[in-house]
Amino acid sequence: MLQQRTLKTITRAVGVGLHSGQRVELTLRPAAPDTGIVFRRVDLPVPVDIPVRFDSVSDTRMASTISPGGDPGGPKVQTIEHLMSACCGLGLDNLYIDITADEVPILDGSSASFVFLLQSAGIQLQNAPKKFLRVKKAVEVREGEGARLMWARLEPFHGFKLSFQIEFNHPALDATGQQVVFDMGSGTYAREIARARTFGFTRDVEAMRSRGLTLGGSMDNAIVIDDYRVLNADGLRYDDEFAKHKILDAIGDLYVAGHTLLAAYSSFKGGHALNNKLLRQLLADAEAWELVSFADTAEAPRGFAELAPAW
Ligand SMILES: [Zn+2]
Repeated sequence: MLQQRTLKTITRAVGVGLHSGQRVELTLRPAAPDTGIVFRRVDLPVPVDIPVRFDSVSDTRMASTISPGGDPGGPKVQTIEHLMSACCGLGLDNLYIDITADEVPILDGSSASFVFLLQSAGIQLQNAPKKFLRVKKAVEVREGEGARLMWARLEPFHGFKLSFQIEFNHPALDATGQQVVFDMGSGTYAREIARARTFGFTRDVEAMRSRGLTLGGSMDNAIVIDDYRVLNADGLRYDDEFAKHKILDAIGDLYVAGHTLLAAYSSFKGGHALNNKLLRQLLADAEAWELVSFADTAEAPRGFAELAPAW
């Protein structure tokens, strides 16, 4: 049987929120089978649980934000996507995440620090079958036309592979790999995807700061680009770091489904909003998906039993 996974021990992280600039502490704790991933706002007078579900997503403008029942006026946790991406990459199903503010810390702007943190805590196999969300028919969402066209698509596939194409018409980004294809079954998430950092343009910074966004952003936690070039002294971590970060984000955005998808995902210029719209469209059609588990591990997609070796 392919088993569910949680953490072996409690682990903690401290950092600042990218948008809020607030100091925040995370405590990640093991959770029972079929709990899913649940954030708990422990800074509120009465702690509030916010389960990670596709319909908890309440804002997707700059990052993926969740609130109980998806209520935009409710208590929230912002910027969950990099941590969710790490959980998916390591195959973690069940976790409590106590948080002391309304935003997950940005750390180094990638998911590598979360991967390290989770792996250091250890992965515990649980006595319950791991469930996957199998896509049975293709779904697609499109927005805009011409130069503003963007789309995202899910198609049936025995495994989880992603393809992302960027197009920014910017000299620094055009000089890098524009398309990345990644197969989760390759076992290379931590090495090939997790280190890709988020990125931002200096020309947007002033406007965003005036709206109270990116207050915690710096070259320590993002690739910063002016009108011509990357400003970070050390340059890029991968030749195609921008497109890889979009794959990292998509993995996190789709993991709010509560289970790893068995699907081929592809997107052209998409983002958090389109990814959530795609997931909602999929889940709204009962004919388009089903939950499956693998009593015989040999029937699981190649590489899925080894996503994160348990010790
Ligand atoms: Zn991101």
